[in-house]
Amino acid sequence: MRMKAEGRVYLVGAGPGDPGLLTLRAARLLAVADAVVYDRLIHPETLKLARPRARLLFVGKEGGGESVRQEEINALLVAQARLGRMVVRLKGGDPFVFGRGAEEALALEEAGIPYEVVPGVSSGVAAPAAGAIPVTHRGLAGSVTFATGHRAEGAPDWAHLAGAETLVLFMAGGRLEEATGALILAGRSPDTPAAVVEAGTWEHQRVVEAPLAEVASRAREGAIGSPALLVVGEVVSLRSRLSSLVNAGSPMIERALARAEGGHE
Ligand code: SAH
Repeated sequence: MRMKAEGRVYLVGAGPGDPGLLTLRAARLLAVADAVVYDRLIHPETLKLARPRARLLFVGKEGGGESVRQEEINALLVAQARLGRMVVRLKGGDPFVFGRGAEEALALEEAGIPYEVVPGVSSGVAAPAAGAIPVTHRGLAGSVTFATGHRAEGAPDWAHLAGAETLVLFMAGGRLEEATGALILAGRSPDTPAAVVEAGTWEHQRVVEAPLAEVASRAREGAIGSPALLVVGEVVSLRSRLSSLVNAGSPMIERALARAEGGHE
C-alpha cells in the first residue's frame, strides 16, 4: 500500500478585504497550498497569492448560510485533507469571529485531521477604522460589544446590546431598520451617533453616518448593501474630526512599496 502524504487544513483569516491586510503567515501559506477553499468576502487579488497550481474551490454563501451548506464545507475540507493535500480554508476577517471557523475546527477534530488556526484582522475593528471610527476612545467608550443580527438561537438580546458603550453589529446589511428600531425600543437614545460601513477597506467602501433613528433610512436611500457593519456609540462622533487626513494615502509611498515588493521576487 502506498503511503499518502498527511493532509492538513489551515483555517486562515483573510482580513476585511484589502489584500494588504493579510498576515504574512496567511500569504506564505497561500503560496504553498494545494487547495484553497474560499468564500465570497475574499478579494480577487488575495486569491492571486495562491500557488499557481493550487485548486481554487469557491464555497460562497450569503448571509449566515444554512447548516446543510456548512456541513458540505466541513465534508469538503475533510475530503481534501484525506487526499493528502495542504488545504488553506480562507475566511473573511478572523476565522473565529462570526466566521463559523470553530464549526470547521470541530469537524476536523472529529475527523482526526490536523489543522491550524491563523488569525486575521477582523472587519469588526478594521471596517470602522477604515471609516475613521475608533471602536474605543478614552472618555467616550471603554468597551466594545461585537454582536450579530442573525442568531441560530433566535433574536439577539436587544436590551443587552442597547446598553453597550460601542456596539458593532455584524450582518446588519438587510436588517438595519429592524436592528436600529429594536435598539431604540430597548432604550438607546435615537440621537446616538451611528454609522454603517459597507465593504470597509475595499476599493468601493462607503460610509453612511447619521443619528441612530435615521441611519437605516439613510443607508436605504444610499442603497447600502452587503457586507456591512452597523456601529453605534459616541465614538462615531470622532469621525468628523478624523476623516480629513486619515487613510489619505500617498502615491509616493505606494510607489515605493510596489518597488520594494518587486525587489523581493
Ligand atoms: N469573520 C469575519 C466576519 C464574518 S460574518 C470577520 O472577522 O470580519 C460576515 C459579516 O462581516 C458581514 O455580514 C459584515 O457584517 C461583516 N463584514 C465582513 N467584511 C466586511 C467589510 N469589509 N466591511 C464591512 N463589514 C464587513
